[in-house]
Amino acid sequence: MSYEGLMVSVSGVRGRVGEALTPEIVAQFAAGFGAWSLARNGGTATIVVGRDSRVSGPMFQRVVLAALQSVGCNVLDIGMVPTPTVQLAVEHHHAAGGLAITASHNPIEWNALKFIGPSGLFLESSEAAEMRTVVDGKIRRATWDKLGTVSVDKDAAREHIEKILALSFLDVEGIRKKEFRVGLDCVRGAGGAFMPVLLELLGCKLATINMEPDGRFPRPPEPVAENLGELQRLVQDSHCDIGMAVDPDVDRLALVSDEGVAIGEDYTLALAAKVVLRHRKGVVVTNLSTSRIVDDIATEAGSRVIRAPVGEVNVATRMRAEGAPIGGEGNGGVILSELHLGRDAPVGAALMLQLLLEEGKPLSKIVAAYPRYIIVKDKLDRPNAPLDTVYEALKAAFPTADVDTQDGLRLTWPDRWVHVRPSGTEPIVRVIAEAPSAEDAEKLVRDCRKPVEALGR
Ligand code: MG
Repeated sequence: MSYEGLMVSVSGVRGRVGEALTPEIVAQFAAGFGAWSLARNGGTATIVVGRDSRVSGPMFQRVVLAALQSVGCNVLDIGMVPTPTVQLAVEHHHAAGGLAITASHNPIEWNALKFIGPSGLFLESSEAAEMRTVVDGKIRRATWDKLGTVSVDKDAAREHIEKILALSFLDVEGIRKKEFRVGLDCVRGAGGAFMPVLLELLGCKLATINMEPDGRFPRPPEPVAENLGELQRLVQDSHCDIGMAVDPDVDRLALVSDEGVAIGEDYTLALAAKVVLRHRKGVVVTNLSTSRIVDDIATEAGSRVIRAPVGEVNVATRMRAEGAPIGGEGNGGVILSELHLGRDAPVGAALMLQLLLEEGKPLSKIVAAYPRYIIVKDKLDRPNAPLDTVYEALKAAFPTADVDTQDGLRLTWPDRWVHVRPSGTEPIVRVIAEAPSAEDAEKLVRDCRKPVEALGR
């Protein structure tokens, strides 16, 4: 079955509300997910359902609840919560799976379903493929006497917060005494109902914007530096120690320094690793498109970085395999394995306060001690040649580079890298390069363009 305009990936299905994403489509996927979970769970299954603050969230939540009941799944409705709270609740309740109704950082007109397996991780590609055959087939519905039940759990967010505060190396008393001034921007996402509670329990004095969790995002909701102007001013005007911005489903955290400068999302994971590696031994896992500032910080701590293909679940499963204490993505997604294997902005926020406590100096000074790198992103038309031919041409053009072919092609030198991978949804090849200066990064992208364009279209 094909679904016009719908973006279907391993971890979920998303579309514009009222266009590709209709109640019928959401019901089909939710019922298929439920039927698949039931089949692999011996005929009974509890599914945890949570949503972000999007305007369309309550409507799709009702659809999802009914669809799951219709196949005989029992539902645990945890309401409006961060996506990591849904993942933790699946683990906590030993549920058969979870559905998060969220389009994450996508603009206001989008919504999506994200599929979570029984371990609290997003589905892996083999699981997603299996589930799709159920979604696309004839879904078996329950008769009246076998319909699933719905129960409401209002404690999921509180349990999430308690687990963070119980982390053994988090010095809650020490952080509380500092009474850090935190500027907070939740972009009217689910974080508005969660982050202030956590931060106030950590003794923070808050200056806040965009806290009403009504999904009416006042700016593009991705927490990248160019969207954080208002938070930068807030941090300056309120003399904050740190500014924190989360995306609508609270799995990404971006920081503004005490000087009112957005320091770039790549630093969130790097700084989290700096704290965690003091307390826990092991490697750091991140994806192939993440800044090498993470390598610098791992090396400083006597550790190293292992890179996995792009996609949260790829990082999470690699962390599990490597026993890594910390990992995540350069987009502000921090994964602390001691808590759970999912990107978690609240735990990232707690780690940042622990960092400020341990360092005893301003965030701007901590960051200034490290080299700056510039990431440049571009896209090329996909040439009329197999991707392997493209990669061979690039390898030949850059004979001195280290080569990684786990996910497209990544070429690495001591202080720079370039990552070339096909888009899953468009006939283009994405090129991401990082170097100590913008000129060097742009040159890397240009140098990739030549051998690719020489292959013709
Ligand atoms: Mg997100």
